[in-house]
Amino acid sequence: MANEAAPQHEKVIILGAGPAGLVAALYTARAELAPLILTGMELGGQVSLTNTVENYPGFPEGISGTQLSELFQHQAERFGANFEFDSVTAVDLKKKPFIVRTYSKEFSADTLILATGASPVKLNVPGEELLTGRGVSYCATCDGWFFKNKEVVVVGGGDSALEEGLFLTRFASKVRIVHRRDTFRAGAILQKRLAENPKIEVIFDSVVEKINGDGKVSSVDLRNVKTKALTNLPTDGVFVFIGHNPNTSLYHGQLEMDERGFLKVNGNMETSIPGVFAAGEVGDPVYKQVITSAGFGAAAAIQASRYLEGL
Ligand code: NAP
Repeated sequence: MANEAAPQHEKVIILGAGPAGLVAALYTARAELAPLILTGMELGGQVSLTNTVENYPGFPEGISGTQLSELFQHQAERFGANFEFDSVTAVDLKKKPFIVRTYSKEFSADTLILATGASPVKLNVPGEELLTGRGVSYCATCDGWFFKNKEVVVVGGGDSALEEGLFLTRFASKVRIVHRRDTFRAGAILQKRLAENPKIEVIFDSVVEKINGDGKVSSVDLRNVKTKALTNLPTDGVFVFIGHNPNTSLYHGQLEMDERGFLKVNGNMETSIPGVFAAGEVGDPVYKQVITSAGFGAAAAIQASRYLEGL
């Protein structure tokens, strides 16, 4: 029987290309480790779906999420980072070197930096799955344009819901923000902008119980959580921004996680297996900012190069 080809060996493989992965790429590249970055489905992760990032230092007028990600990538490439646009299907962390499989190849690595980020939480109500892409969306930047002069509902009360709701007023004739409580979680600046925007209407103390439509969204059933009253609200679209779950399914049974599925990391950004580091939202249930993910990426890279020096 012919020998199977040996896996392609790397000193450092970074899983994911959001701010954490891209900054880990820059730092490990500058440590002359020629990191390989397996980007997953898209470069930039969640920030690439953000229209304007206004709180990343150095860009006082704001910058688009896509542009910021491309700048991060170019900077890392300048120092020797290698990008492969492939998704990881499995990792084997039980022996060293670690094994990483993608759709097309198998790799081995002395150290890994896991930066696989997080994905939007679903409402889990009838109609949501069936009508996703037919009026139900989790990305205003991607789909806002389709709602020119139409009416949309935005679900959530955090920064994402308010920021994306405000962005949607560029297209939609009416944006109704549906929030389950009577106070927003979002920051004060966004709340002020919301109050000043005539296209926005806020519906507090309410949850979407059902999304209706035959082939495309036509209405939502809203339940007032205080009065228990059920109303039908006609709408052309439903944008859901109710938080994110960490993308950790690849590591189940191999790495320690908290009760919500976030990877546990120590002060050295190391997971429960030495040599496997994690950065960004995959291990951060608290901050979830571009700047903090970028910072965690730098820290994980510094620790990964120290680990390699010690080998
Ligand atoms: P988040 O802060 O966790 O807010 C989620 C919102 O969805 C909350 O208002 C929550 O209600 C609501 N919610 C959760 N589950 C729900 C359900 N099943 N049904 C209805 N509503 C539900 O999430 P996020 O807005 O995506 O923000 C995530 C992180 O990114 C935060 O740290 C945020 O500060 C950051 N972020 C920052 C910016 C910015 O600085 N410009 C922009 C976007 C995101 P409750 O309030 O009742 O819990």
